[in-house]
Amino acid sequence: MKYIRVAFEGRVPLLFEYKVPPHLQSKIELGQKVVVPFRNQNKFGYIIEELSQSSQRSLKEVVEIVELEPCLSQDLLKLSRWMAEYYFAPMGEILAMMLPQKRVKKLSLRETSPIAPRKEAITLTKEQTEILKRIYKDIRENKFSPYLLLGVTGSGKTEVYIQAIKYLLKINPQKQAIVLVPEISLTPQTVERFERAFGEPVVILHSRLTPGIRYHEWQEAKAGKKRIIIGARSAIFAPVRDLGLVVVDEEHDSSYKQADAPRYHAREVAVMRAKFTNAVVILGSATPSLETFYQVHQGKFKLGELTTRVDNRKLPQVKIISLGSRKSTSNISPFLKNEIAKRVTRGEQCILFLNRRGFFTTFICRECGYVFRCKNCSVALVYHAPERMLLCHYCGFQEAPPQGCPQCKGRRIERLGSGTEKLEEEVKHLFPSAKVQRFDVETTRRKNALENILTAFKNKEIDILIGTQMVTKGLDFPNVTLVGVINADIGLNLPDFRAAERTFQLLTQVAGRAGRGPKGGEVLIQTFNPSHYTLKCAQEHNFKKFYQEESNFRSKLGYPPFSKIIKFEFTGSEEKEVFKKAEEFGKLIEKFKENSNCFFQILGPAPAPIYKVKKKIRYHIILLLPFSSPVENFLREILLKKYFSKKAMVKVDVDPLHLL
Ligand code: ADP
Ligand code: ZN
Repeated sequence: MKYIRVAFEGRVPLLFEYKVPPHLQSKIELGQKVVVPFRNQNKFGYIIEELSQSSQRSLKEVVEIVELEPCLSQDLLKLSRWMAEYYFAPMGEILAMMLPQKRVKKLSLRETSPIAPRKEAITLTKEQTEILKRIYKDIRENKFSPYLLLGVTGSGKTEVYIQAIKYLLKINPQKQAIVLVPEISLTPQTVERFERAFGEPVVILHSRLTPGIRYHEWQEAKAGKKRIIIGARSAIFAPVRDLGLVVVDEEHDSSYKQADAPRYHAREVAVMRAKFTNAVVILGSATPSLETFYQVHQGKFKLGELTTRVDNRKLPQVKIISLGSRKSTSNISPFLKNEIAKRVTRGEQCILFLNRRGFFTTFICRECGYVFRCKNCSVALVYHAPERMLLCHYCGFQEAPPQGCPQCKGRRIERLGSGTEKLEEEVKHLFPSAKVQRFDVETTRRKNALENILTAFKNKEIDILIGTQMVTKGLDFPNVTLVGVINADIGLNLPDFRAAERTFQLLTQVAGRAGRGPKGGEVLIQTFNPSHYTLKCAQEHNFKKFYQEESNFRSKLGYPPFSKIIKFEFTGSEEKEVFKKAEEFGKLIEKFKENSNCFFQILGPAPAPIYKVKKKIRYHIILLLPFSSPVENFLREILLKKYFSKKAMVKVDVDPLHLL
């Protein structure tokens, strides 16, 4: 290697070229950490590319190689280059995420007692066997094969992942597997299930690990000592030696998208990593993202289906309850009340789902219509009963509830809508003998609170569990025979193109919590939109029908999965300045569009639907473009050269999850 391109850690957008002096030429390798001169001092950098020649004259020389063993494997290096391109992210930012942090001296490791492998032999169902046959073949052939495992809740998807990994490790004991699960499902139960299935310890990776433990776990994965890595989003960067299989469980889950830069989606990254390592990748869900199912339609992903629950347990019956022109302020219709009462008397359990925290959602002045909003953010304040305070869910601002209207001095302040706190109070009042527990961000904040509530629920010490979307995911309690959705319209009415998709996913997932045992189960959905296709499809547990309806709507508007969205966000404290920044950027793109004859849509600059967060004004520009449009090269150019070098003037979000 004669010339190399080097990246520096941090928000350094560009790569820099160096010459390799003759005595280092035989030793130098991609991914190594090196010392190079940079602006009159020596600096650590990472070799990202090799060049056979350089266009630049008078290049500086590499000073030394820090470690002969590359810090980044070849596949991670490829992955980082792909991410930098696809997400318009500075390479240094991606490296900072992929490289293990410094070694820390003191370590308190997870206690590992010897793991007793599970004894009970499982007879796979016909559907499981059929899918695994195809997966085994691809594993044997060592070839990149992406699968969507579409299986209703409780249909034995996890068992398919386990069997696939077993097969991989049987035919090639050197291989390793990465299993991604949504942040919230990374409970001791999940880990235990895997460890017992394999009779060996696994590596666990998530964002709450201390740097020391994280480093230790990375080393175990890197050395190949542990072969199974389970983790949340960032585990996809685990430095495994020889990747054979990647699993993304609940692939539609929004926790796979990173909110801060680089704003990657772990599902997309997982597919690319599998591609670069000729691995099999299994995306599993009962409610896949439209993006993934589109790939199936295009023939790019293979489809495996599990259509029935294990033991032929029936999917729960779903009833839609029209709230019609109901004036009552109660959250619970007489019908739902009656059904809950039955469960309570029979000693069965219920889950009530309301996707809104707090007590009343909004305080509004009856005389002038004034809505009490956060001073820093353009969202309504929410009343929280324990603190007797109005709270902002975006910035934490709080104030005492108003006596009168600050605008018209009127005294008729009305409280609208309700959250889980109000629901809890109501349920306790309606069912005084029942044990009621709220399960949301507030009640699970303390250490171990989440585990404690789930254990109590499992031990039937709780009759009615009330929660936000935390109750929709993964809970597996056979004694739950009723799930009530208090208001299906909350999510449906959001001004966002994914509102229906997200609602369908939530409803289907929460419905899946019912009837997991021999007693069966029932789901009641309360709504003012009883004929909406989203609710109908959720009622029928029919993902494919939902896909048809929803993709019709998306394709008409030219939204994903039929196009790619790039969202640019401009923020600042002065409205004028923010607008000017956004406008300038928008003009650059307009001009490119005129000169290039490229077809794509530019929306904005416009104030974001949530116009202000933490005192910062927000403006958006949204691009809707065909896949691999030349405008992406242009954007990369202006972002890297002009925008990223100055301090975070614009936030870029490729494939944003929402446009709020
Ligand atoms: P999913 O991941 O689709 O929700 P799981 O794999 O967790 O489904 O399976 C649900 C339950 O059924 C689990 O308790 C699991 O151990 C059990 N199970 C899965 N496959 C089988 C099978 N072939 N025979 C018996 N039980 C099974
Ligand atoms: Zn606020």
